Amino acid sequence: MLVHNPKIMLPDLKFCELKTNELMSLHTNFKIGGVCDFFVIPKTIEGIKSVINYVEQNEIPLLVIGNGTNLLFPDDKFPGVVMQIGESYFHEVKVINESFLQVESGTSISKLLEIATDKGLSGLEFMSGIPGTLGGAITMNAGAQRKRIGEIIERVKVINTKGEIYWIGQTDIRFGYRESRFKCSTGVYLPQKEFEIILEAEIKIKKNDSSKIKTRIQEITKSRESSLPLEFPSAGCVFKNTQDKLAGKLIELTGCKGLRVGDAQVSTQHANFIINVGKATYKDVRTLISKVQQKVYQKFKVSLETELIIINDTLYK
Ligand SMILES: Cc1cc2nc3c(=O)[nH]c(=O)nc-3n(C[C@H](O)[C@H](O)[C@H](O)COP(=O)(O)OP(=O)(O)OC[C@H]3O[C@@H](n4cnc5c(N)ncnc54)[C@H](O)[C@@H]3O)c2cc1C
Repeated sequence: MLVHNPKIMLPDLKFCELKTNELMSLHTNFKIGGVCDFFVIPKTIEGIKSVINYVEQNEIPLLVIGNGTNLLFPDDKFPGVVMQIGESYFHEVKVINESFLQVESGTSISKLLEIATDKGLSGLEFMSGIPGTLGGAITMNAGAQRKRIGEIIERVKVINTKGEIYWIGQTDIRFGYRESRFKCSTGVYLPQKEFEIILEAEIKIKKNDSSKIKTRIQEITKSRESSLPLEFPSAGCVFKNTQDKLAGKLIELTGCKGLRVGDAQVSTQHANFIINVGKATYKDVRTLISKVQQKVYQKFKVSLETELIIINDTLYK
């Protein structure tokens, strides 16, 4: 276990915005999470390199986030660095030709769809309404409408712990159901562990009529708005579907809709969503997740696996 060293000084990070004791509830869609020692927003690749050097040299944990839409963050202080690669600085979208886009990883999926639609470039419509960045979507192999982003990724540019920058082709990314080589099982990168941060990606697209693309996006948005509890803070679907069953259906048949622990509640609209109806805590959500898993197991003998990233606070306490 890691013991936080209180002597760690404020980092002199070049090319970064830096905040100390930042509340993570401001940066997660769940609106849950305590403070972190350092919250860093790199402005350039040099900035990312300086963060990597800082955490490596001081042996402190690092969490990389995009929009924080798939994260459950602990209420206790995080003794490390949270680095956000988001829309403010990593948002460039280049059209290479009619078959490929080159997109920086902080670009939000909604912005990407807007640009692709304007330029009459099709292929990303199934991602409509997924509220994260490209980097988060690739890590999670996010998807909907029976498609996943991994299917349209040609290659991904990354930086590793040694500061090396290189491209990784689609097959080497090892995309699976909400899985990729970038997904970190503990949620947080601990010192001396190798990891890669996504910088940009090449995405396969096709020329199409802008109005057709727009119509498809509107259809998907309408259907999502009517079926998902979008007015409440959440992290999207909590559990993975099994080979042949929808997790939401199993949860609903177990009678868990509306089940509540503190201010965390199984949505009455969509059973695979846990929503924050007030001041839900990390513990509320974790306890509710366990209750749902137990109930589904008792009734169907199915062990539901979580889909969202739960930052495991026991690793760095
Ligand atoms: C209302 C709602 C609806 C949703 N609907 C869907 C859906 O239909 N389908 C679906 O698949 N998901 C869905 N999600 C989940 C989530 O939006 C997606 O997984 C999204 O792609 C996560 O992107 P993010 O930028 O928010 O990532 P974060 O939540 O910030 O991070 C997710 C993971 O990616 C890693 N990561 C982020 N950026 C980088 C980077 N640059 N380099 C390396 N690692 C990185 C993080 O460390 C973390 O492990 C939904 C969530 C909400 C709240």
